[in-house]
Amino acid sequence: MLKVAVIGAGVSGLSVASLLAAAGHKVSVFEKNQKIREIGAGIQISPNGFCVLKKLGLSESIIKNSVYNNSILICDYYKGKKLLQFDQRSVLGNKDFRLMHRADLVKILYRSALSNKVTFNLGYNADAKSLSDQYSFVIAADGVHSKTRALLNPIQSKNRRSDYFAWRSIVPNTITHHDGVRLTVAPNKHIVSYPVRGRDQLNLVLIQEAENKEIFEWDMTQSPEEIKHLFSEFGGDLRETLDSITTVQKWGLSSHDIPFNWAAGNIFLIGDALHPMLPFLAQGANSALEDAFVLAKLITFLDASEAADKYLEIRKPRLLRLMKQIKNNAWKFHLEHSFFRACTHSGLRFIDNSFPLLASIPFRWLYNYDVTKLDI
Ligand SMILES: Cc1cc2nc3c(=O)[nH]c(=O)nc-3n(C[C@H](O)[C@H](O)[C@H](O)COP(=O)(O)OP(=O)(O)OC[C@H]3O[C@@H](n4cnc5c(N)ncnc54)[C@H](O)[C@@H]3O)c2cc1C
Repeated sequence: MLKVAVIGAGVSGLSVASLLAAAGHKVSVFEKNQKIREIGAGIQISPNGFCVLKKLGLSESIIKNSVYNNSILICDYYKGKKLLQFDQRSVLGNKDFRLMHRADLVKILYRSALSNKVTFNLGYNADAKSLSDQYSFVIAADGVHSKTRALLNPIQSKNRRSDYFAWRSIVPNTITHHDGVRLTVAPNKHIVSYPVRGRDQLNLVLIQEAENKEIFEWDMTQSPEEIKHLFSEFGGDLRETLDSITTVQKWGLSSHDIPFNWAAGNIFLIGDALHPMLPFLAQGANSALEDAFVLAKLITFLDASEAADKYLEIRKPRLLRLMKQIKNNAWKFHLEHSFFRACTHSGLRFIDNSFPLLASIPFRWLYNYDVTKLDI
């Protein structure tokens, strides 16, 4: 039996803790906040993340607390007209792609950790180095501004500035939004919307290109009036939704190259601590779940140095491919030049009319991957 310390009680920390505890190890989670913060807004759980939750025996509660993402709809901002809609079901078969509130996901993972006898040390600002003497392994799931990543990678200690701002809001679902993700694109901006919580609410993520110099956290508030003004050119039924915003949180986007050192001695990085990413493919939580599954397996069977080599070998190619696709999406969403926009939109309409399933090809490698079936 291993004695494992996990730093951070977000999606990656809670899931790796549960997986290890369920395998019989003694796991302690250290979280700097006094409470497990069930905050945030909507989160997408694609099939590649869902399969890990299924392994944890959580599929029923996840399904109960989420909406099935049946299709992805791309619209133009001006009148909200459809450009392309592709059906997820025909591509993913019966695999689950769920839309939910992050708070519900965290609550489910926390309960699972407690029932697997994980112990929690709340209000504890942990330091990986000092824990590493007392535990067989220390897993740093300390998020996007990870102190442990900086400790292991002193020359790559800073996050890269991303020239994007994002705002998140949950509003009543008063429009006829389909059961899926809608992406509404405009020059330099886009809005992602989807239903959560029994379809009663809509999750909105509003993204704009702008210089972003500061270090941002998740929970800074901003005046709804400023946001309505910034996104005033959006028409169609999204207008009604934007007008109903009463609270909005500013979300600082930053990214980081995949660091050189993923582990040092018995300390390992996981989730956003290892690979902060822009949200343009909604893979933050899903990649964290994949990492958690791989790392929990590896440290059970291998010593620290073998586990570190194998962790890199299994995870790095997939993460690099993902980062590349995220970068590509960023500029495609925000096409500014009217000629290129018109050409791209005609292309999307053509695919929609003639070969709608083609649109899903770039995502198949991502969603159809089942980390729980790897031969580790
Ligand atoms: C408050 C919050 C709200 C979010 N909301 C959304 C959302 O609405 N939609 C979405 O798609 N994604 C959201 N995310 C991001 C998403 O959860 C992550 O991208 C993904 O789940 C990977 O999570 P993670 O566990 O690696 O990191 P995180 O979820 O960031 O968790 C890191 C945890 O580590 C803790 N921590 C950091 N340093 C220390 C330390 N020294 N000692 C102890 N504890 C420490 C933090 O308090 C935090 O609980 C949110 C993240 C946070 C933190």
